[in-house]
Amino acid sequence: MPIDPTLPYDDTNIFARILRGEIPCGKVYEDDHALAFHDINPQAPSHILVIPKGAYVSWDDFSARAADAEIAGFVRAVGHVARAAGHVESGYRLLANIGQDGHQEVPHLHVHIFAGRPLGPMLA
Ligand code: IMP
Repeated sequence: MPIDPTLPYDDTNIFARILRGEIPCGKVYEDDHALAFHDINPQAPSHILVIPKGAYVSWDDFSARAADAEIAGFVRAVGHVARAAGHVESGYRLLANIGQDGHQEVPHLHVHIFAGRPLGPMLA
């Protein structure tokens, strides 16, 4: 079910629990601002999620409230993860689902990195 974007941050969401170490993840990278791990239901040969460490529901929430250093740190982390995974030469896709029409299911901002095969044209 897509999230209700009008609700405040829910710190029981699965990615908050991963950040607190309550649930394991296939970690690929971590720094002061971000955590990256393999998606549990990969939609491409490489499907990594990058999340900020702060409590932000969505890209909308993050871009409105996060400090400049958090935004810079998160954007750099996404780029670092893609480079470290070796995706730059062949290319990759970034995706952030936001709210109901974006079909966002987990109410903690996450950027998907898809790579490892030709991904085809953008849908919708
Ligand atoms: P959304 O539709 O953009 O919110 O995507 C949520 C993503 O989180 C989906 O691709 C899920 O497969 C992924 N996911 C859900 N739970 C876990 C987990 O515990 N570990 C890793 N990925 C997860």
